[in-house]
Amino acid sequence: MPLIGLHVSIAGGFAKAIERGEAYGCEAIQVFTKNQLQWKAPPITPSQGIAFLRALRESGIRKVVSHASYLINLAGEGVQRDKSGEALVDEIERCDQLGIGELVLHPGAHLGQGQRKGLENLREGLRDALGRTANLRVRILLETMAGQGTALGARLETLREILDGLDWNDRLGLCLDTCHLFAAGYELREECSYERLTENLEKNFGLQRIGCWHLNDSKSARGSFRDRHQHLGDGQLGLSFFSALLSDNRWEEVPLILETPKSGTGDAGNMALLRKLRGH
Ligand SMILES: [Zn+2]
Ligand SMILES: [Zn+2]
Repeated sequence: MPLIGLHVSIAGGFAKAIERGEAYGCEAIQVFTKNQLQWKAPPITPSQGIAFLRALRESGIRKVVSHASYLINLAGEGVQRDKSGEALVDEIERCDQLGIGELVLHPGAHLGQGQRKGLENLREGLRDALGRTANLRVRILLETMAGQGTALGARLETLREILDGLDWNDRLGLCLDTCHLFAAGYELREECSYERLTENLEKNFGLQRIGCWHLNDSKSARGSFRDRHQHLGDGQLGLSFFSALLSDNRWEEVPLILETPKSGTGDAGNMALLRKLRGH
């Protein structure tokens, strides 16, 4: 059975994130391990790590994934890229300190120097970060993107190319965001959409590479390349894709994380809908 849950805040301490997730009946949660809009963060103390792990063990939450800072862009150039490399190593170490096994990362944007150069920078940045944390087991999950501006990773073929360039390092995987896939042009509304996509994933990556899903409906049209998340069922996707995903037992213990707006039906409404679609 896949694990359903939410992205939750760590405001007030890491253990607070567990409390927030529990309040909504989450089986999995996603967190930032630091302020996602700042480069620097105070180090995690051993007692903070222990408190987090204790709260997790005593909760009904079975898995935690982390989302890396939005500032990180390994595909860029110069000082920003150097800072991004350092920040990624820091993110991996912070995950390890909190016992978090998976870190979701945006592939980044080439910022006008072209896709080829951007991908080359990204590949070398990932190689460096994986090498510098070779003693750790934290897996990096590259997220599928909507393709806004010069963002890389809107096509699964591109992500495959990145993994290929890193010899399918076993610490690399994918995070699939349904809003991003749809905005990037993937058809998710037809009866056979779910089967078609999972066949593609199985053939080109192997399902064990998919470490996380982000469940979001899309305000924007298919192929619009616009990243605008919406409540499940209130956007252009409809519910059949989510329903098929939730009842597929091949996603055993894989987190399905909501990143839907906080307004309107909110987290409680979207969680209730997921439970209804799953049947419990
Ligand atoms: Zn993301
Ligand atoms: Zn996402």
